[in-house]
Amino acid sequence: MTLRDLPSVDSLLQRAEAAQLIDRFGRSLSREAVRASLDLAREKIRSGDLPASPAELVQISEAFLRQWTTPSLRPVINATGVILHTNLGRAPLSRSALEAIQGVADGYSSLEYDLQEGRRGSRLVHVEPLLLRLTGASAAMVVVNNAAAILLALTTLAKGREVIISRSELIEIGDGFRVPDVMRQSGARLVEVGTSNRTHLSDFEQAIGPRTALLMRAHHSNFRIIGFTSMPSRSELARLASQHGLAMLDDLGSGALLDTSAFGLGHEPTVQESLQAGAGLVTFSGDKLLGGPQAGILLGSTDLIARLRRHPLARALRADKLCLAALQATLMHYLRDEATREIPVWQMIAARPADLQGRVESWIQRLGQGQVLESRSTIGGGSLPEESLPTFCLALDTPHPQKLMERLRTGSPPVIARIEGDRVLLDPRTILPAQEQDLQSALRSAMQVADRPALHERKA
Ligand SMILES: *Cc1c(COP(=O)(O)O)cnc(C)c1O
Repeated sequence: MTLRDLPSVDSLLQRAEAAQLIDRFGRSLSREAVRASLDLAREKIRSGDLPASPAELVQISEAFLRQWTTPSLRPVINATGVILHTNLGRAPLSRSALEAIQGVADGYSSLEYDLQEGRRGSRLVHVEPLLLRLTGASAAMVVVNNAAAILLALTTLAKGREVIISRSELIEIGDGFRVPDVMRQSGARLVEVGTSNRTHLSDFEQAIGPRTALLMRAHHSNFRIIGFTSMPSRSELARLASQHGLAMLDDLGSGALLDTSAFGLGHEPTVQESLQAGAGLVTFSGDKLLGGPQAGILLGSTDLIARLRRHPLARALRADKLCLAALQATLMHYLRDEATREIPVWQMIAARPADLQGRVESWIQRLGQGQVLESRSTIGGGSLPEESLPTFCLALDTPHPQKLMERLRTGSPPVIARIEGDRVLLDPRTILPAQEQDLQSALRSAMQVADRPALHERKA
């Protein structure tokens, strides 16, 4: 067979089987798919293989069309036990946050409209009063994420001036966020003081000069310094700042409103504590321990927040209506004192080991395979590094753990597990109750295939 014997694009599109493809995927995309399948056939002929028949070419076109029209961003089951898994989208939202998003997404809303007065309003009224009530701050502002919050704060308050920070807090949290780089981008000059492990109040004091704009603290995020360490407390730093007419900027990272030590974890500094210590400006993410949508929240004194709001960057970094709707609903849970019941991140943190064990046992019963294994879940998202919660996992023995992982990952829905030793582990803590059914079928089909040896491994 030669290249010339291949059917034309048009003749393939006129075939009866092609009609339903055109119906489902549209004429122009179907035409592209037919072209792609003919390209494939040409390659085969050139390398001496037999090309597909016209009917098969239409089938190959359909495979292309399916591939092109399958969304790449889709739900997965997080069986890793890492609660705030950044690669898996961090915090799942509460039911009422989802309803709030839907409520404003499928129509118009009072986003910037004052319903009492019948005129233009501010989008910040939807979350600012809640944030103030919950934290005791004097003013608040919301931007797209915490990196943006820090950039806005440094640009507005310290451009062309100096920001003093401890050497131990020049962190990189991954994916390109490095405190020194954000500082450079803002036009502020970084003044690092102290050493990697120890920084004293006097180090800050001696570095303060006429060009100083801010004293800064940054949460260590995903690492921990232990041993011979020292760092002035938040209140000491805030006091020093105010003695010199300066403000302290505190990047808290995950922004816990609840005390993590009540759940058997280490104590994560809360937003309220930072404000009480006297931080002029506190920043944190919406989608870490707060358990809401991606957002950057800034809290602080009225005059500092007012300056941030007036900066042109504020407009470029502002939060959208879907974010504000979800954030408002999430904050309401704290207001009603129902965060651990309603916010998935806190439900997961508060989950009782005995209940987790019960879930794994019921999986084993239904699957007819696997064992219960004691293990640890982690918080992730740069919150509470080295801290973990006791859990029970489903452990699956398989001759090819990597292959089972791949089967799970590429199944529908995809399941992300982890390997410990040579077993595949699934932690129920991060699996939402609504996903139980899907998990069963995903596990069953992945294990059927994974346990069967691959063709090339079969003995003749
Ligand atoms: C996560 C984190 C950030 C970045 O927050 P995003 O909301 O992801 O932009 C900044 N600082 C610290 C300390 C963090 O932990």
